[in-house]
Amino acid sequence: MNEVISQLIALQKIDLHLDTIDNKIKEEQDALDRQSAMLAQRESDIDDLHEQISTLEKERRTLDLELGEELVHVKSRQSKMMQVQTGREQTALLKEIEDGKQNIKDKEDKIVSIMAEVESLTAQVTRQQELLQAETKSLAEETIKTKEAIEAISKSKQTESNKRQKHASEVEAKLLSKYTILRERRNGLAVNNVLAGVCQGCFMSIPPQQYNTLLRGDKHLDCPVCQRIIYHLPPDDQE
Ligand SMILES: [Zn+2]
Repeated sequence: MNEVISQLIALQKIDLHLDTIDNKIKEEQDALDRQSAMLAQRESDIDDLHEQISTLEKERRTLDLELGEELVHVKSRQSKMMQVQTGREQTALLKEIEDGKQNIKDKEDKIVSIMAEVESLTAQVTRQQELLQAETKSLAEETIKTKEAIEAISKSKQTESNKRQKHASEVEAKLLSKYTILRERRNGLAVNNVLAGVCQGCFMSIPPQQYNTLLRGDKHLDCPVCQRIIYHLPPDDQE
C-alpha cells in the first residue's frame, strides 16, 4: 500500500484513540459537575424553605401583636358595658364585642395554620439538610476519585500524544493540514476506505473511474461527496 496512506491511517487511528481518551475525561468531569450542580440546587432549595419560614414567622409575629391589641380592646369594651345606660349603646357595644371576638378567633385560627405550615417546612428543611450532608460527603469522595481517574487517563493520553507527534511529523505538512481540517469538519474522520465502490465516510458511491484508480491501491483521492481522503483496502487487509 501507498506509504502516505499507511501514515494517515496510523495517524487517524491514534487520533481516534485520543478522542476516546478525551471523551472519557469529559465524562468523568461531567458526572462530577452534575453531582455538584445537584448539590447547589439542594442548597438553594433549603434557602428557599428558610425564606418561606421566615416570611411566615414574620406574619405570625404581626398576628400575635394584633391579637394582643384585639384582646385589650374587647376587654375594655366589656368593662364599658357596666357603665352604659341606654339599650342602644348596649347593642352597639355588644356588636363591637362580638366582632372583636370573631376577629380574635380568626387570628388564632390563622396563627395555628401558620404554625402547622412552619412545622411542615421545618421538617422539610431537616430532611433536605440530611440529604445535603450525605451528598456533600459523597461529592468530596467523588471529587477525589474523579481527580485520580482523570490523572490516570491523562497519563495514557500523554503516551498516545507522544506517539501521535512522531506519526504526524512523518506526514507531509500540506497533507497534514488538510487531514486536520477534515477531521475538524468531518466528525473526526478524515481518511477512510472505499468498499464496493462506496465511501465508508459518507456512504455514497464513488464514480467507477475513480474507484478503479483506487482499486490499484497506489493512490489516494478525495471523496467527491464528503471530500475525505479515500483509499481502497480489501476488508481482509484491514487491521
Ligand atoms: Zn465520502
